[in-house]
Amino acid sequence: ARQFTRPLHDLANQYNQLLSAVAGAERVYEVLEEEKEEIDEIHAAPVERVKGNVEFQNVSFSYGRDENTIKNICFQVENGQTVALVGPTGAGKSTIINLLMRFYKPQSGTILIDGKNIQTITRESLRSFYGFVLQDVYLFEGTFRENIRYGKLDATDEEVEEAAKKANAHSFIMKLPNGYDTKLTEDGSGISQGQKQLLSVARAILRNPSILILDEAMSNIDTVTEIKLQEALQRLMQNRTTFVIAHRLNTIQNADQILVVYEGEIAERGTHETLLKKKGLYYQMYKQKENTIVV
Ligand code: ADP
Repeated sequence: ARQFTRPLHDLANQYNQLLSAVAGAERVYEVLEEEKEEIDEIHAAPVERVKGNVEFQNVSFSYGRDENTIKNICFQVENGQTVALVGPTGAGKSTIINLLMRFYKPQSGTILIDGKNIQTITRESLRSFYGFVLQDVYLFEGTFRENIRYGKLDATDEEVEEAAKKANAHSFIMKLPNGYDTKLTEDGSGISQGQKQLLSVARAILRNPSILILDEAMSNIDTVTEIKLQEALQRLMQNRTTFVIAHRLNTIQNADQILVVYEGEIAERGTHETLLKKKGLYYQMYKQKENTIVV
């Protein structure tokens, strides 16, 4: 059921590194900086905060010397919009996110945030723009409070609890033996997958990023928690540019733009309605899955 484990595991590891870098945490991660990873160009300058307009102009990229993994990708996102990336496994959805995060540099084309080529922004400030809710939630041995605070290390207790409330995590935390001071084990044993996701949303709310990356979890979550999670995600996504690697029909239907990625290209784009009318690839995927989940 885990279709995206490898690339998004990369993403999760990278995320932990960048959080520690941005927040100045002392934590040392076992994952080393990727050799291929981009360092700043000489003229790169820090940027304080962005609105979250994103543009890909003719972006092509290959991980090796072989054929391009993604080819000539063009799209434009207004700040606050939600973009759903859909398409089969291996199509290139995660690669688009990896490039947006500047984990890799495109062989050709330009990626712009608020009209600025991301190559001209220092990596540290670039990465402070992003927040994540991924399938694999990174938890560490510490209290629930500490685990949520990981989204913004200088957050006060009040801010942590406020974020937990908005993330619909407060009530389950309050039922724990020591509330926010209850210790979590590293593997998060004792809490459900859904509750881990709620903690992840709380972190992201605390972080308040301009651009949100969402890797939609595929069930294993009980219905009640699922409803709480969807509601919390709605709150988090509000007025925030969001890229979602989407599996749920509901998310996809509500997206401002759907990009159908197929063999490294954007095969189709539009809203749910326009894409269905087109009776192309999207329509076929939709029909195949019996109106439940696309891809
Ligand atoms: P999706 O997210 O749509 O499943 P990916 O962007 O992960 O697709 O993968 C696109 C292609 O790039 C696949 O063929 C995949 O095997 C390859 N790929 C992904 N990550 C790497 C990597 N780090 N190194 C080499 N190839 C990769």
